[in-house]
Amino acid sequence: MPSLADLMTTTERHQVVVVGAGIAGMVAARRLADLGLDVVVLEGRDRVGGRLWSHRLPNGEIVELGGEWISTGQKAVMGLVDELGLVPIDTGLDFISRDPVGGPQLPTSQHARLAEALARRMSRIGEEALSSMTAAELLDGLAGTGPVMKVVRSRLQGTAGAPLHWIAAAEIGEEFGIGDEGRYVRIEGGNDNLVRSLGDGLALRHGCVVDTIRQDARAVHVFAGDEEHVGLAVVLAVPLAVLATLRFEPALPSAVALPIASLRMGSGAKVAIATQAAPDLFRRQDMDIPAWYWTGLSQTGAVRRAITAFAGSETGVSGLLGDAMGRLRRAAPECDLVGEPVVVDWTADPLAGGCYSVIGPGQRRALASLAAPIGRLHLAGEHVNGSGTIDGAIRTGEDAARSVSRFSVF
Ligand SMILES: Cc1cc2nc3c(=O)[nH]c(=O)nc-3n(C[C@H](O)[C@H](O)[C@H](O)COP(=O)(O)OP(=O)(O)OC[C@H]3O[C@@H](n4cnc5c(N)ncnc54)[C@H](O)[C@@H]3O)c2cc1C
Repeated sequence: MPSLADLMTTTERHQVVVVGAGIAGMVAARRLADLGLDVVVLEGRDRVGGRLWSHRLPNGEIVELGGEWISTGQKAVMGLVDELGLVPIDTGLDFISRDPVGGPQLPTSQHARLAEALARRMSRIGEEALSSMTAAELLDGLAGTGPVMKVVRSRLQGTAGAPLHWIAAAEIGEEFGIGDEGRYVRIEGGNDNLVRSLGDGLALRHGCVVDTIRQDARAVHVFAGDEEHVGLAVVLAVPLAVLATLRFEPALPSAVALPIASLRMGSGAKVAIATQAAPDLFRRQDMDIPAWYWTGLSQTGAVRRAITAFAGSETGVSGLLGDAMGRLRRAAPECDLVGEPVVVDWTADPLAGGCYSVIGPGQRRALASLAAPIGRLHLAGEHVNGSGTIDGAIRTGEDAARSVSRFSVF
């Protein structure tokens, strides 16, 4: 068994190297460090959090530029919130039902009826068939063409960040809140507080953009330009789009390389702006492009003086970013918007490459091979279980830490 001393020839050496300080990588790093292992986290950006990124607007309101909605029904994330002593803030909104921009409010009961009809249709079709059909085919088979159906189609495309024919029908049940009775919360101080709190006392190297992973019988060598970091095990927790660009020596086995090459990431962008006065609580779906706009409660229970928008899929992103201010004004004509909006295009971000992974027809089965260790290499991140969520990313971090700790080399 090689010891650390055996490996002491060049550069930085640690028992475990974690690549990516998003929530998945940081959960893995925290768990392994708590087991007494010597862990370093390599992060390409000058901040932790990755696709969790909270921002304070000039009027003091905190908005989420990345992952935002957390359901109290999501056990991994709520468990972590509790463990870290963080405070969940009720948003006062649900993520599921929305009103059309400029249109009449749609009663929540209409959304609920559609969700029930969908749940019935999904159970008639059965899981096996659902996993090989597209979300477009599933919705085409549902009766109803009214405004609620239009809102739902736009919402689903936006939420997935991809056209409905990219998405496996089996994946959209959760999007209707089927089986989830939770309320939606954000974290006091910003959702990226989750990641910052995990980082206390961890060894972190910022500005370290990893490009090559070389694995031999004794160790894994992680290269970032001319820096080399050597570990007895590596947790690789970069987004799917980045994973697909890394150089692996030897090449990854095809059972792993194929899903990495064939899974896609959705496109997503966010826009946020301060308002003069507290707006009403609303969540409005744009009917021209797959984008939506919402307010939400602050920790005091008052409505925040801010509006946030999310656009998903290429159509949504170009539509929202092409005229962010105009779209915000049309979505919330009753609000006095203050200053310029903050805009983040996640698809154009080289360390993200999109908003989250999209599971297409027949693709879920292939995910199992991403979760299995590849020698000394362990993958983590929302794409590994195809969740696309904060909760799912946390679970992959926990799984990777367990997988590393079972490893007999330490
Ligand atoms: C706009 C948007 C809205 C979202 N909304 C929600 C939501 O409402 N609810 C929800 O649950 N989820 C939402 N998500 C998804 C959620 O944010 C992600 O699933 C989760 O944060 C992913 O965590 P991760 O650790 O897998 O990846 P990331 O957070 O992307 O972490 C990966 C880390 O690796 C770093 N990195 C990348 N490449 C390299 C490299 N070569 N070398 C070194 N470091 C590198 C990155 O900088 C990053 O810090 C949203 C995401 C986006 C973008």
